[in-house]
Amino acid sequence: MSIFKPARVYEGVSSISFDDLDSLNIKGIILDIDNTLIDMYKNIPESIKEWVNKAKEKGYKLIVLSNTNRRHKIELIKEVFGVTCLTFAMKPFKRGFLKACKELELNPNEVCMVGDQLFTDVIGANRANVVPIYVKPINKKEYWYTAWKRNIERSILKHYGY
Ligand SMILES: [Mg+2]
Repeated sequence: MSIFKPARVYEGVSSISFDDLDSLNIKGIILDIDNTLIDMYKNIPESIKEWVNKAKEKGYKLIVLSNTNRRHKIELIKEVFGVTCLTFAMKPFKRGFLKACKELELNPNEVCMVGDQLFTDVIGANRANVVPIYVKPINKKEYWYTAWKRNIERSILKHYGY
């Protein structure tokens, strides 16, 4: 079961503590898009924009890794956050995670994956030896193909005491 286990669980991207990242020796951050940076109505919370800017100021290297191939959404993310986006990533396969680390020029254990899904973000990160940081989804309203997995995720997180 340990492949499902996140190293940390946070309420959302903007509550992630930089001191905590430093304690984990994190130098690079991989960000998921859907329900991590943006909700299904394409809203991006101001608090997340501020957190990302702060992360950049502090010198963390950032990259986006998403399974999406929706061009409008990807363009929006690039425009708002000004980061490289690796898309159609086929998470939880580890290839995309390793590619992201290579782009950041960091070892996987110096990089964290911030995402809202155990079945893609956390499993993939664990497979690639990237540090998995689970964030709760921005919005409760989700696509059906994500929504059905949430009860299972909740029981797994509970199993780990989160
Ligand atoms: Mg997501």
